[in-house]
Amino acid sequence: MNKKVRVRFAPSPTGGLHLGGVRTALFNYLFAKKNNGSFIIRIEDTDQTRFVEGAEKYIYDTLDWCGLKPDESPLLGGEFAPYKQSERKSLYKQYAEQLVNKGYAYYAFDTPEELEQKRKSFSNFQYNQHTRMSMKNSLVLGKEETEKLLANNTPYVIRIKMPENEEIIFTDMIRGEVHFNSSLVDDKVLLKADAMPTYHLAVVVDDYLMKISHSFRGEEWLPSAPIHILLWKYLFGLENMPQWAHLPLILKPDGNGKLSKRDGERLGFPVFAMDWKDPKTNEITIGFKERGFLPEAFINMLALLGWNDGTEQEIFSLSELIEKFSIERIHKAGAKFDYEKAKWYNHEWIKKLSAESLRNKVKNILQNTTNGFSDEYIDEVINLVKDRCTLISDFKQQTSFLFKAPENIAISAIQPKWNEQKKFFFIELINQLDKEIIWSAAELENLFKELASANQLKPGELMLPLRIMLVGDKFGPGVFDIASLIGNKETISRIKYVLSLL
Ligand code: GLU
Repeated sequence: MNKKVRVRFAPSPTGGLHLGGVRTALFNYLFAKKNNGSFIIRIEDTDQTRFVEGAEKYIYDTLDWCGLKPDESPLLGGEFAPYKQSERKSLYKQYAEQLVNKGYAYYAFDTPEELEQKRKSFSNFQYNQHTRMSMKNSLVLGKEETEKLLANNTPYVIRIKMPENEEIIFTDMIRGEVHFNSSLVDDKVLLKADAMPTYHLAVVVDDYLMKISHSFRGEEWLPSAPIHILLWKYLFGLENMPQWAHLPLILKPDGNGKLSKRDGERLGFPVFAMDWKDPKTNEITIGFKERGFLPEAFINMLALLGWNDGTEQEIFSLSELIEKFSIERIHKAGAKFDYEKAKWYNHEWIKKLSAESLRNKVKNILQNTTNGFSDEYIDEVINLVKDRCTLISDFKQQTSFLFKAPENIAISAIQPKWNEQKKFFFIELINQLDKEIIWSAAELENLFKELASANQLKPGELMLPLRIMLVGDKFGPGVFDIASLIGNKETISRIKYVLSLL
């Protein structure tokens, strides 16, 4: 029988979630759901020096916004709770000691000052097979001296003893066979002086205890893979090890290197999922959500950064992504981020979603502008303008004149070609509109054309003035649609007002 699929998204709560992080969560989620497995959130917070207030909540809020619901998490609990590594602290030490007892790791008593001194004296100093025998550790000191130091509560860390010149091989689900030489990896700390594990030990122990079957993580973790593989081998035997997939990087728009927060600032686009406020500086980094992206579009765009289903299809809902997802179609090469394309996805999703499902988001953007208007009216407004909106925030400009008369009128756009004949036409139009008939856009257009020809005017030369009267400027949807939506009375009052300015 196949092992049950259990995947984990294991972020460290150190700040806002970069879109690469959300994509990692998404691919884990898609794989889990595709295989009727479980999607687990584990908070990897063993590095207390990097603790950032609010970062953990931000992770939950982001996943929630994206619709990526976990099956087990620190908030939900589950069979393998706790899911936060700081709450599992007491679990890890025994594994580090096991490694020492088997000869795969050792106690190191070097003080931070001594290490600093080494780093100063030797550029690129590394604690590794070449240097370890000149340091203060159990390999050098011997059993007796080590036990004495331990009995005296001398602070220590436990380091892995990387083997010399050993070939470490594993099969990555995306990259195929990957080879490392153990000599190139230093003796990483596994257990710190405060008895907290480092990421390397905790990730292996927890993947084992939580019965993780597959793990998708960013390519930046590939250099850590040999350490994890050795730990798996030494502690648990390789057959229980999860299958790894190292996801390609998300690259800068020009393809030169990994996309960073600074690129977003430099080029004016978000890289975080949601607004992130740095608790120390109070600096806010804008998120996709607040910039006006729909979660459907954000997820869709992320999935297609490094994956496709082999057809030309680009628009996928989350459930379609689950259905179509396959590891074979994840690319090996990095995916360039393209903000224009991201906006394209959003535009497509705004067009695709019903007014009803956009309503709350639009209301949020418009705030009290919509007070006193029925949901039916708001839905009609949304339907009228949604094709013209790329971001949810565009609804503000595109709908303002549908809720109240424009404050600024671009009168100079009418004035040069204005004459008495046109004025007369608009007065007649007002008279017709005043007949308390509910006009449809098509009926209005007919009326408008008939009146124009009766006055020997071309409808074309009257459309722009009417638009300026109703909208205040030269944009917006069909002018008869606008008039029929705001109704006779409002149309009349806007025309009258502009006539009084001319
Ligand atoms: N805690 C790591 C991170 O912050 C997780 C790496 C992994 O998935 O193994 O991304």
